Amino acid sequence: MKIFHYIPAPYTEESPSSLLRRVALNNGFSSVNRFCKRTNLTIGVELLLQQGDFHSLLQREYPEIEYLPAFYRKLPFKPGHPIDIGGCEVPAVQLNCLASGICTECLKVGWEPKVKDLRCVEYCPIHMRRYLFSCPHCHIKFTPFTQLSESCACGASLECESVTADTAKLELTLMSVLKNKDQSFLDNFFLRLQN
Ligand SMILES: [Zn+2]
Ligand SMILES: [Zn+2]
Repeated sequence: MKIFHYIPAPYTEESPSSLLRRVALNNGFSSVNRFCKRTNLTIGVELLLQQGDFHSLLQREYPEIEYLPAFYRKLPFKPGHPIDIGGCEVPAVQLNCLASGICTECLKVGWEPKVKDLRCVEYCPIHMRRYLFSCPHCHIKFTPFTQLSESCACGASLECESVTADTAKLELTLMSVLKNKDQSFLDNFFLRLQN
């Protein structure tokens, strides 16, 4: 039996956390947290992984859509237990799905790229915007799981600050690196980040 009326087909570069937000929002939930409570999903990085509860739920609901490539894969037999995100390996500690901010332009478009799930990103490389972590008016803090629209609960219309391509240089580079599966760049980058 289908429990959702909205069938989400993942976009090629869409992150699984973005897929989760789309499912929650388009099925009438005001937050991912509420959606997870209703569907007995435990909030955490596991939601982004292949064979995790969210992947299994979607696959069960919509067997006609192949969801496997849309999710990240644990590589437990490799040193450091990295995670494969669309053909690139990243250290598990570099994945972030809860504490990232929101891009109001991505919210308007309806989806976000995989690069957003990396802990080190500060700017949306698609829209050149600084991720927003709280409402400038009422100062309530939010996460991408609690804030699904550009309107704050206080009524304020949210808009991320615009930045230049030069400011978002790292994010632009990482987005292109993920797209081109440049593993040696990523290995060096994360090694420098650790030290
Ligand atoms: Zn954006
Ligand atoms: Zn507000």
